[in-house]
Formats: sequence, structure tokens, C-alpha cells
Amino acid sequence: MAHRTLTMDDRLTNYLLSVSVRDTPVHKALREKTATLDMARMQIAPDQAQFMALLVKLIQAEYAIEVGTFTGYSALVVAEALPPHGQVIACDVSEEWTAIGRRYWRQAGVERKIDLRLAPARQTLDALVNEGGAGRFDFAFIDADKENQQHYFEYCLDLVRTGGLIAIDNTLWGGSVVDEADEQPSTVAIRLFNQSLMADSRVDISMVPIGDGLTLALKR
Ligand code: CA
Repeated sequence: MAHRTLTMDDRLTNYLLSVSVRDTPVHKALREKTATLDMARMQIAPDQAQFMALLVKLIQAEYAIEVGTFTGYSALVVAEALPPHGQVIACDVSEEWTAIGRRYWRQAGVERKIDLRLAPARQTLDALVNEGGAGRFDFAFIDADKENQQHYFEYCLDLVRTGGLIAIDNTLWGGSVVDEADEQPSTVAIRLFNQSLMADSRVDISMVPIGDGLTLALKR
């Protein structure tokens, strides 16, 4: 009887993917395109993408925020999971990477559901709060520079409604969160964020060991 999460080897991972991930040709093409880039490891895994789409449907989200879009895979799957009038506000600073995303968003027919804001995310989130956006969003995905994680979380907590969900990526950071010798600013920021969330009574939490660690925080 297992009392802990199963350790996934390649065979078991491939099995899981083969019997659960329902890929579309556009998903596959975007992942393959991204795999040719130096920063390819920044893309989320396909099982995680599908899990997030399921969460979006589960909470019947209509309006979503994404902090860190990269080549647009997560924005694509989230947009597809939203109803026809739904919208994702996607924050990123890279014209080059998000231009790749736009091509595939168009192919998948969800381009008009994604409002890409090319600016530092804190600026975009601040503007959303100032425009009266607090409590108006259902779902947020945070996957950007880790040093600003806590700031992004505070903005998203303000912007989502009660019962809204915030998903934070890379909370296990390749396992380096438990490597005491690792004092990289990103690793330190993730450790501090995880500790702070553990004690945060504003949310219910679950840290899911999917991909590189995905923490879910439900706003109370
Ligand atoms: Ca990530």
C-alpha cells in the first residue's frame, strides 16, 4: 500500500502520457516548435497542460490571467478550456517567443480569446488592479521570473474572486529546493515563497508533483 506519491520512471511516464494525454495536432506542433529553442525546458509538460485545462473547466472559469507566456502553450490550452466569450490576459516581455505562440493560437482558433500584454508583468497586473479588476478573474497561472513570485502572487490574489484558483509553476524547481548548497536567487525565492504560502491563511493549498511542481492555491 502506497503512502507516498509514486516515483515515476520513463516507462511509467510514457504509459501515463499514452493513456491520458489527448493531444491536438496544434498542441503537438507548438511543442515540437518550442523544443527546437534553447529555452525549451521552460515549456510545461503535456500532462500538466491537460491538468490545468481540466482545472479551468472544473471551476467554470471565464476570465484568466497568465504571468509568463513564453511560446504560448499554456495560454493555448487555458484559452481552449474557456467558454467562447472567455479571455486570458497573457503577460510576457518577449516579442520573439510570444510571436511563436500567436501563430498557433491563430491555428487553433483561440487568438481572439488571448489578450497578450507585452510589458513587465508587475506593470500589467498593477494596471488591471487600478482599472477595477480586483475579484474579476477566476484563474491565474504564474510561471515567470521566480524572484518576483511573491509579488505576482499578491497581485493575482487580489485579482481573482473568492473561490478562484491560482496555479504556481516550478515550485519543486528540479528538486533544488532541498539542495542546501543551492543559493541561486531563483531557488531562494522559491523556497521563501513555498514557506510563506504554507502559512498563508488566505488560501487553501495543494502542492502537486506534476511537471516541475505545481502549487494550487484556492482563494478563501
Ligand atoms: Ca515553468
